Amino acid sequence: MIHTPLDVERIRQDFPLLVTPFKGRPLHYLDSAVSGLMPKVAIERMARYQALEHTNVHRGVSTLSQEATDHFEAAREKVRGLLNAPSAKSIVWTRGATEAINLVAQSWGRTHLKTGDEILLSAMEHHANIVPWQLLAQEVGAILKVIPMDANGELILDHLDRLITERTRLVGVVHVSNVLGTVNPVKAIVQAAHAKGAVVLVDGAQAVPHLAVDVQDLDCDFYVFSGHKLSGPTGIGALYGKKSLLDAMPPWHGGGNMILSVTWEGSTFMPAPQKFEAGTPPIAQAIALGASIDYLKGLGFEAIAAHEHALLECATARLLEVPGLKILGNQEGKAAVISFVLEGVHPHDIGSILDHENVVVRAGHHCAQPVMRHFQVPATTRASLAYFNHAEDVDALLRGLHKVREIFG
Ligand code: PMP
Repeated sequence: MIHTPLDVERIRQDFPLLVTPFKGRPLHYLDSAVSGLMPKVAIERMARYQALEHTNVHRGVSTLSQEATDHFEAAREKVRGLLNAPSAKSIVWTRGATEAINLVAQSWGRTHLKTGDEILLSAMEHHANIVPWQLLAQEVGAILKVIPMDANGELILDHLDRLITERTRLVGVVHVSNVLGTVNPVKAIVQAAHAKGAVVLVDGAQAVPHLAVDVQDLDCDFYVFSGHKLSGPTGIGALYGKKSLLDAMPPWHGGGNMILSVTWEGSTFMPAPQKFEAGTPPIAQAIALGASIDYLKGLGFEAIAAHEHALLECATARLLEVPGLKILGNQEGKAAVISFVLEGVHPHDIGSILDHENVVVRAGHHCAQPVMRHFQVPATTRASLAYFNHAEDVDALLRGLHKVREIFG
């Protein structure tokens, strides 16, 4: 039994995958860090758009098109509210966190970085917040530097003042690590970066599902996330950028939907966010994400965090009783992500045996190979918890791990 403010058994009824037998048995979904499940209201909202409201947005005078545009822009407003951004004009739709980071690297980065400039990234970044900067650094001759982390999976910030130099143009930091669950002190990092005139991009892909985010309080310059980690559909995500920065940034994709005028001599562009949204956007996905945000707000982010924390404590204590099991990432107050290694057993074998038990976890490098190298492991098994998980999921995980121990000795 865990003490939780959520009525989890009722909540579970909202998820078709959780109430429909999978391979004839209940499914234990402990893989929300890979992708969150969508509640029925969001699935139905998406279907309603496709069935009864479908057209294109920002064009045409038809009632259908105007209504689709209204729903689409209302969803943008919901994202604004989620992040507490000052204006919906600061919210750019993207395909996800990855595309949002690439947008900043290609548009802001190419404009502002020159040979010898520095980009400072944390040691626990997802590849999505490493590779776009490497591509840019190679192109313009910039230098990548790294904020180190310790054995507990926490950033070492003692020398941050020295790591951020007069040449640092951008600091990129993950808000919550997808491998370790570590919640980084983003506000302090932003203050240190701003003191040296650097801008800060925060990768919030794993933060938005777990905590209330306030970009004004963090004072970050860019914040990115993916809808599918937030109980929304794939193919949609968002970039928050401070308006002054977005206004000064050039478009990165060209096409319809983003121009004011086009002649053979050249084109002029709409203001942000439209100038970054060339072509037809993922309309149904944006509207469904809006429904997911409403659903989560209905549950309450504080209640979600309290539930996940209770489950995390219970799961952590029980996992540590498994002989030879070590958890990577032990920050106090971390988010509900548990990466572990089991002595003598490859994570892929663990993942396969758990799969036989209908327990879904992720086994691999989690798109964070530098983190694996830091801990000197090839891969980990990761169980990630969400507001719809109940104690039975943790029981099933433990049953599966005892099977692993029986098989591998
Ligand atoms: N950053 C982090 C911390 C992530 O966990 C992920 C997804 N695993 C991403 C970025 C990339 O998200 P997406 O693939 O949805 O763009």
